[in-house]
Amino acid sequence: MTKTFKIAVFDGDGIGPEIMHPTVALLKAISAKSKSFDFAFNTLPAGAAHYAEHGESLPETSLEAARASDAILLSAMGLPSVRYPDGTEISPQIEIRKALHLYAGVRPVRLAPGQPTPLALSEGQPVDFVLIRESTEGLFHSQGTRDVRNDTEAYETLKITRDTSEKLFNFAFKLAQSRKRAGRGAGAVTCVDKANVFAAFAFFRKIFDEVAMKHPEIQTNHAYVDATALWMVEKPWVFDVMVTENMFGDILSDLGAGLMGGLGLAPSADIGDENAVFQPCHGSAPDIAGQGVANPFAMILSAAMMLDWLGEAFGLDEMMSDGIRLREAVEAAIDERQDVTPDLGGTASTSEAAAAIARRLL
Ligand code: NAD
Repeated sequence: MTKTFKIAVFDGDGIGPEIMHPTVALLKAISAKSKSFDFAFNTLPAGAAHYAEHGESLPETSLEAARASDAILLSAMGLPSVRYPDGTEISPQIEIRKALHLYAGVRPVRLAPGQPTPLALSEGQPVDFVLIRESTEGLFHSQGTRDVRNDTEAYETLKITRDTSEKLFNFAFKLAQSRKRAGRGAGAVTCVDKANVFAAFAFFRKIFDEVAMKHPEIQTNHAYVDATALWMVEKPWVFDVMVTENMFGDILSDLGAGLMGGLGLAPSADIGDENAVFQPCHGSAPDIAGQGVANPFAMILSAAMMLDWLGEAFGLDEMMSDGIRLREAVEAAIDERQDVTPDLGGTASTSEAAAAIARRLL
């Protein structure tokens, strides 16, 4: 029997539609060959351009349709030229994480063979770890509260809660277990914090240690965020799963993308108990929007993560193996430098790069 999954789609701003349209076409082609699953895509309005035109960044109807879907695909939102009166940018992607309580921001950092990287790696130093960024609180908690006093002082509040932290750490330990089972990691979780200075992070670490006690089969470590930035460059192969606060994770995930040869190759997922968003780590790249040269691979790899997640949640082996095949097709294209976009040294357009993935896959 075929199961039809409702997929909410946010085309977003800038290069967003350029990378989303070929990704949805790929998913349609994959599902057309499947006996066990199908997709019903529902494109929803939101973003900076929508705000500029309608005065609303994330319509309630879009949020509710996303909530009712089985999974959400989002490209990128925001344009530096479109801002709220307080000077901050329109960022519905952050509002969605909070509204749907997508606490686990999953950012895989993996170097496949032939993948460009600024690192000089030797044999036996595989880079394959996952950064989990808490995505609903931390220093992003007070976003939008605009506490600027008399043009002389500004305040932001960092929030750590036991409830979200426990869910976050349980997610991290489960991921480390499944990676260990799949032979992808040593079975280790590193808690990244700044517990030497801030009481909020000492609390974060205390909860981590409590959750760790329930997972004796998984190794645990602590690391300060500043040292972690250094080690991600010096010896990234020592990491398996690392888990951290929202702002630290925001910064470290771009460092991870840098290790992977740039933002055009870095996928992500934001996962909660009921919903999940799959989107590339990069933004709307207004500097190259409209030129047809954006790299679609981070978006396509995010779609592969969606196939993994839905396939595992619904016990669909075919969907999980399609997720692996999709990822492998992208990795092969990178390795062979065939039909890749200018950021990877190629001359292919966005649609040519995506079409080449379809040819490898189908
Ligand atoms: P960005 O990620 O959009 O771009 C940074 C650089 O990477 C640019 O030079 C860009 O051309 C390049 N780049 C990014 N994605 C690429 C791709 N797929 N292919 C080739 N090159 C790519 O970051 P930014 O310039 O700081 O932000 C631009 C806008 O995006 C801002 O409005 C920002 O708020 C927003 N933003 C949104 C998200 C999101 O939706 N999750 C994340 C980050 C930034």
